[in-house]
Amino acid sequence: MSSIFVLDSQTIDKIAAGEVVERPGSVVKELLENSIDAGATAITVEIKGGGIDYIRITDNGLGIQEDDIRTAFLRHATSKIKSVEDLACVTSLGFRGEALSSISAVSRVELLTKTKNAFAGTRYVIEGGREMAFEAAGVPDGTTMIVKNLFYNVPARRKFLKTAMTEGSYIAELMEHICLSHPEISFKFIMNSSVKLQTSGDSNLQNVIYSLYGREVSSLMVPIAYEDEHVTIRGFVGRPEMARGNHNYEIYFVNGRNVRSSMINRALDEAFKPYLMLHKYPYAILYLTLSPAFLDVNVHPTKMEIRFLEGDRIYRAIVECVTDVLKHKDLIMDADEPELRKKPEVVKREDVIPEPFEVHRRSTFAPQMVVAEEPTFLTPERVSSEVITKTDSYIQHTPAIEPIEMTSEPEQISFLSEQARVKHKLIGQLFDTYLCVEYDGKLYIIDQHAAHEKIRYERLIKAYQNHNSTTQNLNPPIIVTLSLKEEETFKQHEDLFRETGFEVEHFGGNEYAIYGVPSDLYGMNEATYFNELLDVLSEQKRRSEMETVLAHLASISCKGAVKAGKVLSTLEANTLIDELLSLNNPFHCPHGRPVIISFTKTELEKKFKRIL
Ligand code: ADP
Ligand code: MG
Repeated sequence: MSSIFVLDSQTIDKIAAGEVVERPGSVVKELLENSIDAGATAITVEIKGGGIDYIRITDNGLGIQEDDIRTAFLRHATSKIKSVEDLACVTSLGFRGEALSSISAVSRVELLTKTKNAFAGTRYVIEGGREMAFEAAGVPDGTTMIVKNLFYNVPARRKFLKTAMTEGSYIAELMEHICLSHPEISFKFIMNSSVKLQTSGDSNLQNVIYSLYGREVSSLMVPIAYEDEHVTIRGFVGRPEMARGNHNYEIYFVNGRNVRSSMINRALDEAFKPYLMLHKYPYAILYLTLSPAFLDVNVHPTKMEIRFLEGDRIYRAIVECVTDVLKHKDLIMDADEPELRKKPEVVKREDVIPEPFEVHRRSTFAPQMVVAEEPTFLTPERVSSEVITKTDSYIQHTPAIEPIEMTSEPEQISFLSEQARVKHKLIGQLFDTYLCVEYDGKLYIIDQHAAHEKIRYERLIKAYQNHNSTTQNLNPPIIVTLSLKEEETFKQHEDLFRETGFEVEHFGGNEYAIYGVPSDLYGMNEATYFNELLDVLSEQKRRSEMETVLAHLASISCKGAVKAGKVLSTLEANTLIDELLSLNNPFHCPHGRPVIISFTKTELEKKFKRIL
């Protein structure tokens, strides 16, 4: 008896669906991409039970014509390409024509759609690939897709889903990224009946950031921009004081697509290194536009990884432009209370957006308002087609982002500039720990220990980089005994020790003689530092040598720096401030803590209630 069978089409579809639909988040992603491809300017996403039970996506896009509906749910049905030649110039997000067929093979789908010119809309129900209803329906222009009971007919796949909470959180993250990649579209995300986020669609990225992450974060983001013939970089990076414990807040879009990239992570780490403590990572939202020659296009479109062909150049471009803003922006931490910070304008958008399931739509949105304020409701209105501006073509690619408006406040003369220095009024030393300086309507407070530490740190680094670390000779030499492992580490890094200023020679057996130490270490229990450097080098195999050395130099300079609680003379205080002036980054100590903070006069006057 024959044991080979041809699979029936439903089984084939279910198997194929596995490639497109892995979890509720992939359904949301595919449907969102369809709505964006359809030219929608407002999209609502609603989920229940982490999207496993219920997903609804409503858009005000082009809609699907009645005769096209059944076809759209067939495998490899697409309006976006006709032949393989079109692949070369496709600009829409999806084009494989697999999403609708895959989703409907493994769930219960209800579609409500109407094109602008059609007299009535259509309701189409398809469950597990089987048509259940096809009828006329009174619906607004645009499309609503409802997807229920994902994998109800594929228990094996359903088993692999995580909890509703986890699946829901994936979708929430996806929504954030979609909002960031399309500031020109108004998104609304409802999870278990509560509005989780909403953007205005006014194309202003800063407003999107404000909507997603709140006022505090948006006020601490600094715009970046870079452009050469092949690479354009736009976006925002967070000021160093808002660092996070992981890479989750580093979000990248390459040619409009949200991607992950360890190369970009590394570039950001490099640029932020002088400003952040170890194991702290920056906030960053970057938009890269690359000429196609820089990208490997053979990566599967649903995958998040991306392969760069000229990774080095892109790496350098990122480091350069991020370093640039971090250096030039006045990074003195503002001691002002957060509410004094400028609040970005939230633009009121009173457009009425078609939503068959919601009568009301809030006119403006900011996260704080959800809890703090009574929402203002719009009066229900019939949808008028004039308010919706749409394109006529499906292959309407919305560029991920327009050049970002630079909020270029006039570059204030930095507190630590040469011109400013002569106008400094040294008020004195506070608690034997802080130097207080008045300048230009502000009170600046300098942490003397952090400042000195930073000065020593930069000196050491400079010496190391210029290969002219100075050595202080020891007479007699210090003899240290090394274990086998320590010896191995030392041999591996011998030149590095030399470059930082150590002079060490084999003394016989497992003993080594230290004849010289870096000048900055002289008189400070040199053998301990030598051992410490060895420890660091042997433990931190993953990090580059340079990083290890810098981290170590940071700790060395910290120990040698003037302590908090040490009384300084006026001369000493002034010398310290003068030295700060010469630093590349005087604003953070090697551990990333602030060196200088400031109070405005206004802030003090508020405290004294001289002004309200
Ligand atoms: P693809 O997006 O790869 O073309 P899909 O299966 O996702 O394939 O969609 C099939 C077709 O259905 C699309 O090409 C498009 O013509 C139509 N379509 C899907 N969703 C929408 C929508 N929200 N608005 C308008 N047309 C849509
Ligand atoms: Mg699609």
